[in-house]
Amino acid sequence: MAIRKIVERGDPVLEKVCRPVTEFNGRLHTLLDDMRETLEEASGVGLAAPQVGVLRRVCIVEDSEGEILELINPEIIATGGEQTGLEGCLSIPGRYGIVTRPYKVRVRAQDRDGVTFEVEDEDLTARCFCHEIEHLDGHLYTEHCDHLLSDEEVQKYIEDHPEQFGQDEEEE
Ligand code: ZN
Repeated sequence: MAIRKIVERGDPVLEKVCRPVTEFNGRLHTLLDDMRETLEEASGVGLAAPQVGVLRRVCIVEDSEGEILELINPEIIATGGEQTGLEGCLSIPGRYGIVTRPYKVRVRAQDRDGVTFEVEDEDLTARCFCHEIEHLDGHLYTEHCDHLLSDEEVQKYIEDHPEQFGQDEEEE
């Protein structure tokens, strides 16, 4: 496994539409393993292949249990509800915006061996599904917010919305 370089906003690779994966081979497995290691090193919750310069429909998402979901050729097939909260991206380090997403999202994808499966999740993981899958079509979350927050605005948002930042758990 190897840590790959995460490309940052401004790199044209982040604006391209990725091609579907057709071969579920060792090369794909190496990409997935490298993406896992890269995500872990960056302490993120999701990473899409174009963020490491690979224009293929591949992304990984860490769910609320800490499991890494590998999504190949993923598609959102159902959504429900709505959530509004802070969103960031490893390709836009240190910056956040306020983005509204569905609260619940169901995804159909293939695993690393090409087997089709469906997964449904909510809250932060649902947000992450939307964010990562958009990367595969060359979109960034910044398209959904009017501006990126200043450090002061981020601090104020966290203070005003403690329920979104696991304050209850930290107090235990
Ligand atoms: Zn991102």
